[in-house]
Amino acid sequence: MNNNVRYLISNSIDVTDRVLARKHIEEQSILIQKQKEQLERNLKEQEEFFLNMSHELKTPLNVILCTLQLLELYSNLDLTGENKNKNFRYRQVMKQNCYRLLRLINNFIDMSKIDAGYLKLNLQNLNIVSIVENISLSVADYIESKNISLVFDTDFEEKIIACDADKIERIILNLLSNAIKFTNPGGEIMVTITKHQDNICISVKDNGIGIPKDKIDAIFQRFNQVDKSLNRNHEGSGIGLAIVKSLVEMHNGIIEVKSTLGLGSTFTVSLPYRLVSNENDVPIEFTSSDDLERIHMEFSDI
Ligand code: ADP
Repeated sequence: MNNNVRYLISNSIDVTDRVLARKHIEEQSILIQKQKEQLERNLKEQEEFFLNMSHELKTPLNVILCTLQLLELYSNLDLTGENKNKNFRYRQVMKQNCYRLLRLINNFIDMSKIDAGYLKLNLQNLNIVSIVENISLSVADYIESKNISLVFDTDFEEKIIACDADKIERIILNLLSNAIKFTNPGGEIMVTITKHQDNICISVKDNGIGIPKDKIDAIFQRFNQVDKSLNRNHEGSGIGLAIVKSLVEMHNGIIEVKSTLGLGSTFTVSLPYRLVSNENDVPIEFTSSDDLERIHMEFSDI
């Protein structure tokens, strides 16, 4: 021991608060940076949304306007033979484009209702097999007119589950409309229903263009389209599948997709077996009243 050292003066400061404060500032600035990035992403999405919506609203309106001008030209002519056919075709074009506008606006309203929690299911115990079969077969002629064959396949005639028939029809029509849109003439669409232990699976399979691997996760997100260019081959707003996903989830179900580029896609909706006990416990056969209108609307993009 060194006897010369008689005192040790220690001057220490507790810097814990300072370290904590610096850490807090660092964390805050990371958070602010993240919020800023999120805000920029939201703004970009909003810009893309308005661009998309404007394009989607403008295209059918332009078609209606041009067709109206043609109709005006023909209105002074004798409406027989070829002129009569043209007159009929022009009115069909206007009608289809009105349906497109209506579909877009309806989808838009429903999306907002889903967000706000206003869209409710009208659950009833119904035969899901006949709902899917009827709506599929009601569009068979249309699909065949596009030179695409439709196959409906199931091993059983009846399975009663709690579902909202309107919404199920909408889901199936939307998946069918996409399958038609992205399948070339000569192709095939197959609707299959299978029973599993806890759920029933409805799949819509096509042998169309397929979806690239890196795009597949995004297709259920709003306004997501594999081809986003404004001069793309297929019309659509990119909100159909987002609404379908929400409607399936409202039924406590899930929707999945498997796809191979160039070979086709399969969308599978799985719905759980469950029943509701709100109406005399008697299963009802669902008959839709306005199928035709609904089909015109859902298929107006094709
Ligand atoms: P859209 O109205 O543009 O069809 P959807 O939300 O229904 O919007 O679909 C989003 C995108 O997913 C489509 O634009 C398309 O790129 C892709 N898609 C959906 N279904 C199919 C399919 N059966 N085959 C290939 N691509 C598909």
